[in-house]
Amino acid sequence: MGIARGALLWISENRKLREALPRYMFIKRSVSRFMPGEELADALKAAEHLKAKKINAIFTHLGENVSDETEARSVAEHYIDALSQIQQRNLDAYISVKLTQLGLDVDEDLCFQNLKLIVEHANALKNWVWIDMEQSPYVDRTLTIYRKIRSGYPNVGVCLQAYLYRTKEDLKELLPLSPAIRLVKGAYLEPRTIAHPKKADVDANYFSLAKLLLENIKRNSVTTAIATHDNVLIKKIRDEAEMVGLTKGDYEFQLLYGIQSDEQERLAGEGYRVRCLVSYGSYWFPWYVRRLAERPANVLFVLKNLRLG
Ligand SMILES: Cc1cc2nc3c(=O)[nH]c(=O)nc-3n(C[C@H](O)[C@H](O)[C@H](O)COP(=O)(O)OP(=O)(O)OC[C@H]3O[C@@H](n4cnc5c(N)ncnc54)[C@H](O)[C@@H]3O)c2cc1C
Repeated sequence: MGIARGALLWISENRKLREALPRYMFIKRSVSRFMPGEELADALKAAEHLKAKKINAIFTHLGENVSDETEARSVAEHYIDALSQIQQRNLDAYISVKLTQLGLDVDEDLCFQNLKLIVEHANALKNWVWIDMEQSPYVDRTLTIYRKIRSGYPNVGVCLQAYLYRTKEDLKELLPLSPAIRLVKGAYLEPRTIAHPKKADVDANYFSLAKLLLENIKRNSVTTAIATHDNVLIKKIRDEAEMVGLTKGDYEFQLLYGIQSDEQERLAGEGYRVRCLVSYGSYWFPWYVRRLAERPANVLFVLKNLRLG
């Protein structure tokens, strides 16, 4: 792992910096590149713009590690309202939740009940809920909750991270459930004992996991979301999908708002299913620093805003 990436990921998890840095105007200004605004209304508006470019959306209300039952419940209520607003506006927009935002640190059952409320409502509206994957200590609990919710509802997917050594086994165990899987590289600071430290190895594992997913789209009815901005991988996965006889509509590409926007439009223009994850909310700092860590050159944008300020 590069020194800059490691340092930025350390900052994203440092409690004092999480509180102090977001107050600076130049940091606030630079976050707008990755999110359209702090309110649900901003995300809905962004989704309207994306729709005009044949790109669908997923909404995430930023927040993590909620330590209070009432707050966790109000996050669930927020998402239930968001699903209704998506329906009212006739948008093709899913939602994506973090289990620690629904109370996983407080109590596993509380978290499950909050998730169930959201998934039930989404199911009634024929919409979908995705579960993010957080730091490695949450992986087992996230997969346990996923298995439990998936046994009752078809409209729910989970994210798997290619940087973890364990992921191939996790994926194989999930396949019989006909799961929905979003494959990502992984965004957190993880020790080399459990995660590939070298980018080349993460990329190779990503491709091998993506191949396994593609092979199982028909065989095990696996809903597959390829979530990466890596053009080389995207091209290889498109070729592989064609080779195993899949059509463009059999799987989906998912990318983040403000990143590789041209590629998003290009893929949608070529007839691929593309979904853009739009984040909003006031608790954006740790999430934002993870975006900087993915491409430390992004720090230059932050510094440019400092100069302008
Ligand atoms: C839809 C979606 C959902 C996600 N959900 C999760 C999750 O639940 N859990 C989790 O751990 N991670 C999640 N991630 C983040 C993911 O793990 C990676 O950290 C992130 O996608 C960067 O990796 P990459 O695959 O784009 O490849 P990289 O090799 O990091 O990037 C490839 C290229 O994309 C561009 N790029 C990538 N990131 C940036 C950036 N921040 N700014 C500017 N350019 C950039 C650059 O040109 C870079 O060379 C999600 C990502 C997406 C797209």
